[in-house]
Amino acid sequence: MEANFWTDTHAHIHDDEHGRSVDEFINLAQEKNVKRIITIGINYNDSIKAVETAEQYDNIYAAVGMHPEYADKYIRERDYEPFLKLASNKKAVAVGETGLDFYYEENPDENRQNILFEGMADIAGILNKPLVIHSRNAAEKTIKILDKVLSKHSNLKGIFHCFDGNISVLDWIKDKNFYISYAGNVTFKSAENLRQALINTPVDRLLIETDSPYLAPVPVRGKKNMPANVSYTGEYVAEFLNLPYNILMEQLENNLQKLMKGVWQ
Ligand SMILES: [Zn+2]
Repeated sequence: MEANFWTDTHAHIHDDEHGRSVDEFINLAQEKNVKRIITIGINYNDSIKAVETAEQYDNIYAAVGMHPEYADKYIRERDYEPFLKLASNKKAVAVGETGLDFYYEENPDENRQNILFEGMADIAGILNKPLVIHSRNAAEKTIKILDKVLSKHSNLKGIFHCFDGNISVLDWIKDKNFYISYAGNVTFKSAENLRQALINTPVDRLLIETDSPYLAPVPVRGKKNMPANVSYTGEYVAEFLNLPYNILMEQLENNLQKLMKGVWQ
């Protein structure tokens, strides 16, 4: 597969709080050779906006899901079907973001987060679309739920988004169809643990993202992030792994195509 462009596999551009338009994000991204963006929903209404945005642009795709910080609002008997239906849209190429987050004390309790995460993972398994996983201070518990869902849906596949460098996750993905996505924080001076994880991530499981509007990479660290900046992360990762930019682009594209097999429309 020939590819000479970057994809931002995780951004939130459909509802920019500073009022930047999707067209503007796309134009700025094009200038940096970022030609495909997956815009990610964090709750039901936000996911509707993500899908509506993706439907308007050829090179924008959506992910439909609920972030763990909203787990209190998720009731399986009421919310599972609507999410299943929305995620069935052909421009919805992934289910998420969702997962477990025990970093912030004010987050919903573990039981509620488990119910949400399992529900979203079931949808990903049923639709055969990748699960976009947010896992923070929760690696072992995340793996436990994924193993449970894999026992129901052996086809389950996914992306650990904004990877936090947890080594047990790297071990776990080895014999499974799961990928590791690095965000701009891998470029931070203090991120020695992420670079250590990057060395140990099989190159055929690697993806990159911005997580816009958060985590802008060096040299735009501290600014509001946008998909154009995934080019900085790509260049940084290529240099760090001693790969020419175009070789990394091709590898990342192959990885994404493999993950999205049967999903891209
Ligand atoms: Zn995100």
